[in-house]
Amino acid sequence: MIRSPSRTPTRALVAATILAISVAASLATYSIVLARGERQLARSADEHLRLLSGTLDVTINRFRPLAGLVGRSAEIQTLFAEPSGERIQTANALLAWANASVEAEAIYVMNRDGLTVASSNHAEPTSYVGNNYGFRPYFKQALAEGSGWFYGIGVTTKKPGIFLSSAIEVAGTAHGVAVAKINLDSLGANWSMAGVEFAVSDADGIVFLASNPDWRYRPMEPLSRQTIERIDAERRYHEHPIGEPIAEDLARRGDELRRFPLRTAFPDWTITVFASMRPLREQARIAAALALTLCVALALGFVTWRLRTRAIRAERVAKRDLERGVEERTQQLRLARDDLASEIAERRRIDAELNRVRDDLIQAGKLAAVGRAFAGLAHEINQPLAALRTYLASTRLMIRQGGTEPALANIEVMNRTLDRVAVLTDQLKRLARKSEPAREEVALATVVERVLELLKFRIADAGAQLDLGDLKPVAVLGDGARLEQVVMNLVLNAIDAVEGRDDRSIAIALREEGDTAELVVADSGAGISPEDRQHLFEPFFTTKGVGQGLGIGLAISYAIIQEHGGSVAYEARDRGGACFRVRLTLAAGTQARETGGS
Ligand code: ADP
Repeated sequence: MIRSPSRTPTRALVAATILAISVAASLATYSIVLARGERQLARSADEHLRLLSGTLDVTINRFRPLAGLVGRSAEIQTLFAEPSGERIQTANALLAWANASVEAEAIYVMNRDGLTVASSNHAEPTSYVGNNYGFRPYFKQALAEGSGWFYGIGVTTKKPGIFLSSAIEVAGTAHGVAVAKINLDSLGANWSMAGVEFAVSDADGIVFLASNPDWRYRPMEPLSRQTIERIDAERRYHEHPIGEPIAEDLARRGDELRRFPLRTAFPDWTITVFASMRPLREQARIAAALALTLCVALALGFVTWRLRTRAIRAERVAKRDLERGVEERTQQLRLARDDLASEIAERRRIDAELNRVRDDLIQAGKLAAVGRAFAGLAHEINQPLAALRTYLASTRLMIRQGGTEPALANIEVMNRTLDRVAVLTDQLKRLARKSEPAREEVALATVVERVLELLKFRIADAGAQLDLGDLKPVAVLGDGARLEQVVMNLVLNAIDAVEGRDDRSIAIALREEGDTAELVVADSGAGISPEDRQHLFEPFFTTKGVGQGLGIGLAISYAIIQEHGGSVAYEARDRGGACFRVRLTLAAGTQARETGGS
């Protein structure tokens, strides 16, 4: 297949385009899948945040009025109106019972100095009773504003929790503060169990509740020195130092955690839900790879389909071209055949014309030969005519003298003489007749004898010596009249050649050589010069004078012998003179028989 030079760059361009489109589709898929994943991530984080904030809200709000209710109870009011040992015990019992009922961490009451007067855990080793928590913000806040709250680690129990406080008012004056402490650890444990990665941070951004215990008491972002000092002064997280910012920790993890924060109305906290981008990116990468593979597969499929359609189209075109070519060729062949047919017809016409011309030529040659033979014949006919005249005169005389018998004898002699003349004229007539070529068995010896019979007067006139060898009774297939013409031409030429010479011998022989009949006509004439030999069989070649030779005898003889599938050749004789050798194939398995030709 010959490739056009522009094809390779085109293919490279197509491949580059396919690759570019595939890569673009792959990148687009990556960002679409990632964007959708991010939306899903945000939705799911939002749901988690709602759940978390909801449960936190329920948990805290459930306990929010607790401290106020405790402060208003008769036992606490009585205690703070007029404290006594008995009233403290009653208060302790009430607080323990209330704490157990609502499943809080602890419920206790403090006097205006911050000293714990009665507590639900009064009987425990970590009892708050007698401890002063006046430094706590929830205490100050309750005294100042009527209520307060605080999240921190208990300085006595070392347990974290949210402290919800309320001023204890007796007769319109704040006499102390009632506090309900609620532990949020179980809430955090529940959230962790749900598989959510979260962190709850205070207003300063310090995490106190998280799915990862390491994050506790660490700020989300780096804090200022003053903030850290303030928190320490509050002993918010007791002895826990404020740790490293979580952000740095998360950055080190390398799985690109997304933060979804939500600020709660009360308390003023922030719940943050974390979600890793890693699975999302992985998913996007797989989708992109799939898109790339799909694009390339589609493109390859398309290219294959295009190539196939092109090949089919090319095949169809080639087939159509071939069919057209075959049709054109057939048409050409048809025309050529017609041309050939007309050429053949023309050739046939020319051949027929040639045959006719050749036949005419043969006839002309024959007439020429007859003319040449006639010289002797005229003499031979004149002789009997003169004899007849003599016989007629003597017969007339005999009849007048009454000699009937001798007259009848004379008439008999005259009759025989006329018969002889009739034979001669018959021969001439036969020779001069124009005939169609025949194909029959011809006895060559008979042909030779007939010619010699016809020419005997010419031979005698020329004074030639005829040396007639053994004439083998051989037969050939052909035309007797035409073969007779050949022999006559050869003998006439021999007579011409010896005429007027001292040695005037003519030798004729008919032999059988294998499957060939060989006729030899030789004479003792001058022979033929090497120069003339080259033109011997050419038509109209003659060395004889005007009116003596036409120059067609040998040419016609040559054509006749060729027609019979034989050969005629000239040979120079050793002792001078010409020799013509005619060879003809014997008629197979045939017996030579007398035939007159036609
Ligand atoms: P034509 O006898 O009319 O000339 P031919 O074709 O018979 O025509 O012969 C051609 C020539 O060949 C003769 O003119 C003569 O020169 C030469 N030729 C033919 N036969 C003989 C012969 N036996 N001896 C010498 N020359 C011959």
